[in-house]
Formats: sequence, C-alpha cells, structure tokens
Amino acid sequence: MTTSYAHLLSPLHLGFTTLKNRVVMGSMHTGLEDRFYNYPKLAAYFGERAKGGVGLIITGGISPNRQGWLLPAGGTMNTLGDIAPHRLVTHAVHKHGAKILLQILHAGRYGYQPFVVSASPIKSPISPFKPRQLSDKQILNTIQDYVKTASLAKKAGYDGVEIMGSEGYLLNQFLSRHVNQRNDRWGGPIENRMRFAVEIVKAIRAEIGDKFIICFRLSMLDLVHDGNTMDEVITVAKALEQAGVTLLNTGIGWHEARIPTIVTSVPRAAFVDYTAAVKQQVSIPVIASNRINMPDTAEEILAAGKADMIQMARPLLADAFWVNKTATNRVDEINTCIACNQACLDHTFKNQRATCLVNPRAAYETELVYVKTKQPKRIAVVGGGVAGMSAATVAAGRGHQVTLFEANADVGGQFNLAKVIPGKEEFHETIRYFKVQLEKTGVDVRLNTKVNREQLEREGFEEVIVATGVVPRTLNIPGSDLPQVLSYAEVLNGAPVGYKVAVIGAGGIGFDVSEFLLKPEQQPQPQPVEDWKREWGVDLNPHYVSEGGMQAPEIHPPVREIYLLQRKTTPLGAGLGKTTGWVHRAQLKKHGVRMLRGVQYKAIGDEGLWVEMDGHDQLLRVDTVVVCAGQESVKEIMPATGQQTLAQYHIIGGAKLAAELDAKRAIREGAELAAKL
Ligand code: NAP
Ligand code: SF4
Repeated sequence: MTTSYAHLLSPLHLGFTTLKNRVVMGSMHTGLEDRFYNYPKLAAYFGERAKGGVGLIITGGISPNRQGWLLPAGGTMNTLGDIAPHRLVTHAVHKHGAKILLQILHAGRYGYQPFVVSASPIKSPISPFKPRQLSDKQILNTIQDYVKTASLAKKAGYDGVEIMGSEGYLLNQFLSRHVNQRNDRWGGPIENRMRFAVEIVKAIRAEIGDKFIICFRLSMLDLVHDGNTMDEVITVAKALEQAGVTLLNTGIGWHEARIPTIVTSVPRAAFVDYTAAVKQQVSIPVIASNRINMPDTAEEILAAGKADMIQMARPLLADAFWVNKTATNRVDEINTCIACNQACLDHTFKNQRATCLVNPRAAYETELVYVKTKQPKRIAVVGGGVAGMSAATVAAGRGHQVTLFEANADVGGQFNLAKVIPGKEEFHETIRYFKVQLEKTGVDVRLNTKVNREQLEREGFEEVIVATGVVPRTLNIPGSDLPQVLSYAEVLNGAPVGYKVAVIGAGGIGFDVSEFLLKPEQQPQPQPVEDWKREWGVDLNPHYVSEGGMQAPEIHPPVREIYLLQRKTTPLGAGLGKTTGWVHRAQLKKHGVRMLRGVQYKAIGDEGLWVEMDGHDQLLRVDTVVVCAGQESVKEIMPATGQQTLAQYHIIGGAKLAAELDAKRAIREGAELAAKL
C-alpha cells in the first residue's frame, strides 16, 4: 500500500465475498426510493458513488410491509413486482465493483401513518399516531415479512440486507424498555426483548443461506430514559453474531433523543469508543459511524483497532468521489460534509428530495449535468462568496475562461463569519474546498478588487455573474448610531462586546451570534469531545451502566447575560431547521438566554435598549446591542432593466434575494447557472 490511508483502503474479506475497502455509504433516505419511476435517478445517484470508489453501499430504508412505512405509501419490497426497479440500482453499483445492501426498515411507532405498530402501545413524541401493540402472531408474521423482503432483495441482485435495529425504529423499540413493556416472550429481560431481532436474522439466514451479507444496525447508545446499558448492548451483539449476522453496524441515539448525535457541533468521531467497546466482544467486523467526515479521522479509528469499517452517509452525498480522492492523495479536493442537515435530513422531514448544500448534484445526477463546453466564453464572476465560487468553479470546470473578482482580501463571503461560530468549524472546509477548486479549474482570482461595469466591459467579458452578496441590515431607531450598537459582522470579526447584551433579530444568525457570545474565551475550538459529552449529559464511560448512556448534564455558569429578541409573536427559532433548530434552542436555554417575542424596539441610549412589550415600555439594561436583523442585497453593478450592455448579466445568491439569504440556494443557483452557460 503506497498511500497513507492503508487501513481505510484495504479490502475486507468476508469469506464468501470481499469488500474492496473499508468505506461504507450508510443508509440515507433520499425520497427517490419511494416511487418506482424515480429509480433511474436513484441508480445514477448510487452508481456515481460506486464509481467514486466506495466499497459498500446501503440503500435508504425499504419497508417489509405496510405497517412498517415511515411515510404513507413509502418504499416497500414485498412482491415480485417490486424487484425490477431495484435491478437498475444493483446493476449501476456492481458495474463499478462496489457491493450494495438493501436496508429493511420497519419504522414501528415512528411511522407517520395510521397503521403504526410497536412493542407496546406507547405513542412516540415525533409522530401523532399511537401504535397498536403487535400480538404474538403478528410478530411471527412480521418475521416472515422480513424474510420475504430479504429473498426479494437477493433476486433483485443485492449482495445482502441491512436490518435496521437502531435509531428508535421498530426493532430498537423491542430491544429497549423505553417502549417495550410487554411481559410475554418478547418483553421483560434483554433475552426476551432481543428475541424479535434475533429470530429475524436466524430466519433470513435459514432461508437464504450463507452467501448473503446480513448487516445489523445496532444502537450502541440509546440516549433515552430506560434505554439499554452497555452490558445489554453487548448481549444483543453476541446473540446477533450467533444468529448469523455478517457485519455489525453502529447506531447512536433514538430520533427522539434530546442529545444531538449528528449536527455540526457534535465533535468528529464523538461516539467511536462505544463501538470499540462492542467490537472487543464480538468477532464479526464492526462498523463505526456518526460525524466521521474526513479520511484522517476514519484512518485513525481503524488504525487504533476501534472498528473494522467506517460508515458515512452525508459525506458521500457531499462528495461522491471521496474514496477515489483519498486513494489518490487528493484529500484537499474533498468537498466536506459540514453536517448542516439543511439539504439532506431537513428535506427528508419536509417530504422533499434530499440533496446536499455543498453539492447540489447529489440525487440530481441526471438533471444537473456539467458538460464540457464547445464554445468557451470569457466569464466574469463578481463576488467570491459561496454563490460566486460555485458559479466560477463549475463554469471553469466546463472549459470557460473565468475571472473572479473579490473586493475583500479573501474569498468565502458569509462563510468566513459562520466558521467562527462555536460548533461551526466545519465551515472552514467548504472555503478550503472552493479555494482548491478555483485553483484546479484555473479561475483567475483577483482579490482586493472592486470592479465596476465599465471595467468589465473594457476587459471584454461576454457573461457577467453578479454574486456581490449582502450587507447586514441596520436599525433605524434613535440611538442606533451609538458605538455600543454593533452589527453581527462586526461582532464575529472580533469587536469588543459588553457583559449584558441585547441581540436584535432571532433568525439563524441571531441564534449563532448568541452562541458565539456564550462561548468562554478559553474554550478551545473545536470543543474537546469529553467537554461536549459532559455538557450534553452523555456517559463518558464506554462500558456505561447508566440507562441509555445518559448522565446529568454539567451546567456552566453563563459567560454573558443575553436577551434574544424578535418582533414576531411566534416562538423564537421556529424557522430554524427541523433537525438542528432544537439543538440551538436547547443550547441558549441551558445558558439562561432570555428569549423575548412580540418586542417593538424604541430607542437605544447609554442606559440600554428601550422596548415595548405587551403595551408597556421597558428598559433592558444592556451594554451592547447586536443587530442581527437580516440583510440587504448589494447589486449596484447590475444594469437597470432594459439597459443596453455588451455583456450578458446574471444575478445569483444574496445579491438576488437577501430576504432568503441561504447558502443552499446560493450554491445551487451558482451551479445551475454555470451549467447552462
Ligand atoms: P433571518 O432569518 O431573516 O432573521 C432576521 C430576523 O431579523 C428576522 O427574523 C426578523 O424578525 C428580524 N428583522 C428583520 N428586519 C428587521 C428590522 N428592520 N428591525 C428589526 N428586526 C428585523 O436572517 P438571518 O438570521 O440573518 O439569517 C440569514 C439566513 O442565513 C437565513 O435565512 C438562514 O438560511 C441562514 N442561516 C441559518 C442558520 C441556521 O439554520 N442555524 C444560521 C445562520 C444563518 P422579526 O421581524 O420577528 O423581528
Ligand atoms: Fe452534509 Fe449539509 Fe450536505 Fe447534508 S446538506 S450532506 S449535512 S453538507
């Protein structure tokens, strides 16, 4: 092996088959799985990742029956007629030498549909539907449904199946006392609670034989009350091995857990020690997962013997060629998943197709295609934020001659502000990725250069992409010009801030700035994993005896007194992402931030901020007011409608629409425009 990622790139022999390396693309619902007519798109999506070098792929969850649907009419495999579209997928993956497993997912009480069932009739906090308790006979029938799905998967060309037994889905509901309150042979001690999972594995093995991968995704850490202890997790792992499981995959935390497990503020590889504790007790290969997004982290885990394979789902959405880049010493070219969830999981929860904020081609491989141009043009991109960099790199990659003008000393735009927020250090990676791409695609980058239209016309550009971004909105109340009134950009760039602070505006940036102001100055970034676990109440002992691996969180005294304010009367943070908003709200609540809604701003003086609430004037005695009241577009360079220009002008990102300033839209708009020029 000549590369420095010897463990990650080494094959894994499973006896009857070999995986070409140790990288697993974990299961991730894209929304394409649910409709047969979307399977050509799904095949292209998986095919591209197989081409990109991944060793093993696991599909999004497919239900064995109607009761198991996550959403109404979700993807199901229980008749011969379901096979044909899946053959497109398995063929696309096998063509490139990768293997693929069908994930069998029965949602149990997490199903968002009226047929839901579970171990006991206890409603989950994340679905409005109360489940029916499965009877003994229904459990036996469900086992047969799993077997049928596995047999059909084999017929469709899959190399095996993954049985989803973690994250709080049906089998996890049986495994843990949190939901399983039965006192028949399927409930009570762990030997009974695990019977359902074990019988499924045995029955599939008996039906299909030895030459078929059975992977089981087991919860290492439930992170819910009455969750399993590590001893119980190990008991289940050993029983699954005995029953015939080939690979043991890792799940961390139920979906209803109130401890974050995958968002960007979770330190990289935070949970790998729990996986290592299980690995020591079994002899089948064990897969580590959660917040592993770069090759160095992955290699370190394998080299330390903590796992045999590394599972990544989102990082392979962000970069289909992650493995090939790693194998050819091009790690600096990896488009890193920043764990924002904005375009993947948040889309899934809104029943939209999952894609990726940093890679708009993910799950759009057949629609957003970058074809080499036959007519290279001279293109100017004005503004080096993510919208501009996305447009410039795609256009240059297609063969156009691109010049990028940036008024500041560095590219990155708003991401340069985001990357200093505690827990958002991953945003550095996106700037690094684009900088490398600008260089590789040969974009002429002119920093510290504020251009105007005359200059652009003089240089003879044929197309001009205006990506000049935004400026923070200023307040228009008496006292808003006082020195203690700062914009969020000034604060994040290091302006001194007092002890008592009012943050005006509670959008994403108001929340981010509040978190920034709560960070103790001496706290290193990124936060050390032990500190993070203490703060969130995760048991530090890999062989934990606490139920679900939880302990009382450590509360640090707040560094500042903060008011977070908004004019709307809706709850603060209601517009934040579904999968991330609760983490931000919990953080601020824990640190005593006072969140006030229905506030009218009256005036600012040396004594503080005057506001009106519930019809009464009040003084908030603060030293500093930080304005996070949204942005305004910067677009002077755009010609007026109808004005004659030599070049064709286009506008994208925040310059086009400040009201929805959003990196997801900005990067996509840049890429889509550049794909057409
Ligand atoms: P935003 O979400 O639009 O929030 C700005 C808030 O300022 C508004 O909710 C509004 O609330 C208030 N406001 C607007 N005009 C005002 C005025 N004239 N005076 C006083 N208050 C005013 O914008 P943002 O927080 O700057 O975030 C920008 C974008 O960045 C977001 O759309 C988001 O996509 C992205 N972002 C997301 C995250 C995240 O999800 N964690 C983090 C950072 C940024 P009221 O009208 O109720 O007062
Ligand atoms: Fe990762 Fe965000 Fe892309 Fe999801 S949208 S894959 S979390 S970068």
